Amino acid sequence: MARAYPAYRPYEAVVQRVLRLSPHLVRVTFTGEDLGCLGTAGLDQRIKLVLPTPDGRLCDVGADDHETILAGTWYARWRALPEAERNPVRTYTVRAARPERRELDVDMVLHDPHPGRPDGPAAAWLRRAAVGDRVVVVGPDARSADRTAGIDWRPGSARHLLLVGDETAAPAICSIVESLRPGVTAQAFVEVPTGADILNVMVPGRSQVTWVARDAGCVTAQGFQAVAPHGLLLQQALAAWLPRHMSHLAGAVRPTPDELDDVDVDTELLWDAPLDPTTGDFYAWIAGEAGVVRSLRRFLVSDVGVDRRNVAFMGYWRQGRAERQ
Ligand SMILES: Cc1cc2nc3c(=O)[nH]c(=O)nc-3n(C[C@H](O)[C@H](O)[C@H](O)COP(=O)(O)OP(=O)(O)OC[C@H]3O[C@@H](n4cnc5c(N)ncnc54)[C@H](O)[C@@H]3O)c2cc1C
Repeated sequence: MARAYPAYRPYEAVVQRVLRLSPHLVRVTFTGEDLGCLGTAGLDQRIKLVLPTPDGRLCDVGADDHETILAGTWYARWRALPEAERNPVRTYTVRAARPERRELDVDMVLHDPHPGRPDGPAAAWLRRAAVGDRVVVVGPDARSADRTAGIDWRPGSARHLLLVGDETAAPAICSIVESLRPGVTAQAFVEVPTGADILNVMVPGRSQVTWVARDAGCVTAQGFQAVAPHGLLLQQALAAWLPRHMSHLAGAVRPTPDELDDVDVDTELLWDAPLDPTTGDFYAWIAGEAGVVRSLRRFLVSDVGVDRRNVAFMGYWRQGRAERQ
């Protein structure tokens, strides 16, 4: 009997195109012989990129080894390497996949250099990324039984949808919004570094994407700030939007708000994606910087009273911390 393919497997890939979408967003198109088998469930499906060192070195995680691919042991092989030989692995979202052309698009954020803080490996690689660079993509396989692995967008039958995220969540939000089924209405808020980072996205029906740009500034308790702190514009936009849309939340609001654990976003992963909204007709999805995600979730669950099981939240990255492996 043929062995089943695991949900995720490594693919050998090279950079085919590097397209600057905006000052802070770069679309990298990867190609590779095996990408014809890439699973294409879309939405917010995540992948891993194993990135080369500045001298182009890429460790062997078995991306060309059928046994490793089938056994799903690429990560064990990576872990077994001496630390100095392990290439960095970072998480991204499939922005588009065209298996018939063996192509995969990933929209990657080019962080602004931070005084006194070196770039992370992905940001550093992105600055120098060039056609022909070798990487390993760890992604879904179309032949696997579990084609929806790595998807956290699970609104069930809810018809009123809310998406909130920073620039790292923009690829996922754009993909989700573009694929909304008829009969649902989504409101998305996306925060980007500058007005020039606002992207064109096809928004079906009565759904709406509202972009907020940190370089537009904002009013805080300390007065006007020319560059808004990360996440504050999202909080303000959500706080202004909610009172006018409480009817969308009907049935999803609890008389006594749920208690939330006090997650330490510096040491713990802030992540929960409920399987299905349990009550009402409302579903929220929040992703981005972990401290911001924690505040937005608190606002929805503790202040507004939304049932916690109707809110998916993903701390994609943490200010000042490298991604954990
Ligand atoms: C499920 C999932 C999907 C994701 N999808 C995408 C995607 O499609 N596109 C995308 O660009 N990112 C995406 N991310 C976020 C991305 O994985 C992180 O930003 C990652 O930390 C970048 O790696 P790095 O090597 O540049 O930085 P790291 O080595 O992880 O961190 C080094 C330093 O850079 C800082 N840093 C990390 N990310 C940012 C940032 N965005 N802005 C400012 N400073 C930062 C860290 O706080 C740290 O101080 C996703 C993350 C997850 C978990």
